[in-house]
Amino acid sequence: MEIDLADLLRQKGLKVTPQRLSILKLLYSGGHFNGEQIYNELKKSEPSISLSTVYNALNTLEKAGLLNSFEVNGITWYEIKRDLHVNVYCEDSNQIIDVNVDLEGLYKELSEKGINVKSLNVVVIAECSKLLKEPQIGTS
Ligand SMILES: [Zn+2]
Repeated sequence: MEIDLADLLRQKGLKVTPQRLSILKLLYSGGHFNGEQIYNELKKSEPSISLSTVYNALNTLEKAGLLNSFEVNGITWYEIKRDLHVNVYCEDSNQIIDVNVDLEGLYKELSEKGINVKSLNVVVIAECSKLLKEPQIGTS
């Protein structure tokens, strides 16, 4: 799957900046990253980058609907926005895996109660070293 990331930014009415491109490239490579991990990755190619620049870019991308963020134990994690899924945080490995669980029912039920759902994040905290060894379980 080849995505023109610069084009994606333009489609959202955003200016194309090296930081935004690097963040999208990293997150499209798959998985979940916290702000510090993203900062450390970007620093490799742009040593002068500041943490606040990274967070500003993350905020902009999230507001534009390109990213999803959620919190685990006070740390914010980022991922490319995609279909509803459950994020399983493994305490043993400090990793997050996606598990596809049907959340449409939950979404529908909330909507029927008149709740206008802006974002829905389900995070499971688990001891799941076993799950990680067998990542084929319901992951995509
Ligand atoms: Zn996820």
